[in-house]
Amino acid sequence: MPASPDSAPAAVHQRVAGTADSAPQADPLADAPQSWPTQCEVLVVGAGPAGSACAQRLAARGVDVVLVDQHVFPRDKTCGDGLIPDAHAALRALGVYDELAALWQPAAHVRCVGPRGGHCDVPGTVSVLPRKVLDDVLVRAAARAGAQLAMPLRFEAPLEDAAGRVAGARLKAGEQTHEIRAQWVVLATGAVPQALTAAGMCERHTPSGVALRTYVRHPGLAASIRQLQFIWHPRIKGGYGWIFPCPGGVFNIGAGHPGSHRKLKSGKGRMQDINLRHFFETFCEVYEPARRLMSEGERLGELKGAPLRCSLLGARWSRDGLLVAGEAAGSTYAFSGEGIGKALETGLIAADALLAAPRQAGQLGGSDADIRQRHEAGLLALKPKFDLYERASRVNDMPWLADLVIWRANKSPRIMARMSAVIEEKQNPGWLLSFRGMRKLLTE
Ligand SMILES: Cc1cc2nc3c(=O)[nH]c(=O)nc-3n(C[C@H](O)[C@H](O)[C@H](O)COP(=O)(O)OP(=O)(O)OC[C@H]3O[C@@H](n4cnc5c(N)ncnc54)[C@H](O)[C@@H]3O)c2cc1C
Repeated sequence: MPASPDSAPAAVHQRVAGTADSAPQADPLADAPQSWPTQCEVLVVGAGPAGSACAQRLAARGVDVVLVDQHVFPRDKTCGDGLIPDAHAALRALGVYDELAALWQPAAHVRCVGPRGGHCDVPGTVSVLPRKVLDDVLVRAAARAGAQLAMPLRFEAPLEDAAGRVAGARLKAGEQTHEIRAQWVVLATGAVPQALTAAGMCERHTPSGVALRTYVRHPGLAASIRQLQFIWHPRIKGGYGWIFPCPGGVFNIGAGHPGSHRKLKSGKGRMQDINLRHFFETFCEVYEPARRLMSEGERLGELKGAPLRCSLLGARWSRDGLLVAGEAAGSTYAFSGEGIGKALETGLIAADALLAAPRQAGQLGGSDADIRQRHEAGLLALKPKFDLYERASRVNDMPWLADLVIWRANKSPRIMARMSAVIEEKQNPGWLLSFRGMRKLLTE
């Protein structure tokens, strides 16, 4: 097997694409039109989880949707590749759960490792699948539902009518400019702020945090690292390291600093004095399995970093003719850096807002105000959960708390059950930092 960054993930991908050992099937990406469409009802910009989910749901309900991305799929996305129950639930709602479950590496526990080396294995329904594969499956599902794919096209700016309402987008393919007119645009362009800024939606240019990862093959460790592992340590204070087992004896190993950009009073962020590569190297020094993976394993690519936009902050959520979904709207959790599930959910929220009123003669129903209100209400309903994750992210600044929680979880089945409920989204992690939560932690 060649030592390419994506050799293991790509092997999985080939099965998805029907080019390896599965039966041949129509390839919606190969069938994508070579000439770009010029108009549609809804233009979805960004084909990550948020954009693909939105496009799929709209297309499945008969809406004329165009899904654009600056990249041709399959494409890599810097991520930990961990799928937690909120992602599983959204993938079920999209009808792709079984297809993905045949591809991902399932895990039954999340392992929390504290500074003293103690750990607890918290039960949870989780899995790992490289984003190159996951996102490709989602794009194909959107195409199968009827969304037109137009890639590679980069969003440059919104088209506006005389009243300033968004009426489509100006895009670029290389140096060539192309315009697509649309009744509505959904911006799902992830954590990079350029498209948000061009659309007049960016309130904070800097991200909330940063993280980086690489892939390493080490079949010898596959039997012992079977959980999603999170590691806290004073030497990587403010963040954490992780090792997630992918299919095929490959591991996604990385480190994140979700609060790297401290907020100033002005609301703007400024990066703290953090060298993320040093942060990662320190993680490998303090955690023996990470050191072994990096020193003994076969590296399948460079360390790649990427920004995070968390806590539903940093961007406006709508303007007339345009909705913002996914990480562009800040839909990643501050504590854990997980965001695939909530990106999918917010893509579906945007689609449902557009579908709420009956369509008439090929036109989406409902006023701008109604559609915007529904979308924003959907995001607002998620906000309390994000706020608790923001609060819980203080654990990253107090690694000793991880030791305490791990010690107590191993002693008390009720504490363990609470932690499992956090993973299953039946309990918020904020309880940990409340007075009552602390009391329960010490007494339950
Ligand atoms: C290192 C790291 C580790 C992470 N680990 C995890 C994890 O284990 N589990 C988890 O749940 N979450 C994780 N996350 C968070 C997760 O990656 C995001 O929450 C998720 O990708 C957000 O999905 P999205 O669809 O909103 O955006 P994205 O997945 O970023 O997709 C946005 C799409 O928009 C396209 N785009 C951007 N700009 C333009 C433009 N101008 N024109 C056209 N297209 C454009 C991009 O090419 C991209 O395809 C991690 C993040 C990082 C950085």
